[in-house]
Amino acid sequence: MSAPGDDTSQHATGDALSADVTQELADLYARVDAEVAGHAPRCEMSGRCCDFPRNEHRLYATGLETRYAQERAGLVVPEADSGLCPWHVDGLCQLRDGRPLGCRLYFCDPDWADTMPRVYERAHAEILALHQRHDIAYSYGSFVHTVREGVDAAQRGGLGPAAGPNGGQA
Ligand code: SF4
Repeated sequence: MSAPGDDTSQHATGDALSADVTQELADLYARVDAEVAGHAPRCEMSGRCCDFPRNEHRLYATGLETRYAQERAGLVVPEADSGLCPWHVDGLCQLRDGRPLGCRLYFCDPDWADTMPRVYERAHAEILALHQRHDIAYSYGSFVHTVREGVDAAQRGGLGPAAGPNGGQA
């Protein structure tokens, strides 16, 4: 796999998020991170959560989240093995600040399994409200598929792919 910034990287295009919406999503993620920290689910550092092909996980994100992640990565989308998140390098996430909600909430810890969907649904509803408040077309789909396409949001009439049915990873 190539490292972020290699010559094989793609560059995401599309309209930049406003400073207001960027800050509001950053604040929302900070609240989610604090809530997760309060529960302290166990992370085994196995990398399973990001290895979608091997574990048959699917990570969904809204178009706003995907665009935020791209911008936090400097609009550079590294090349990656098929199906892998381009920011999954040597078993570690290279996009900690920009990673979407599903990444922030997914842990292998079975004691966290009952809590995670409730936190996800509430935070996802807040992200949907952000889309609406800032008049950003709502879309919901595969995070990896979108970023690896090097999506041009303007060409798709929104900030991401068509709506998908599920939330989070798995
Ligand atoms: S952005 Fe998410 S899926 Fe990608 S490497 Fe980071 S935690 Fe894993």
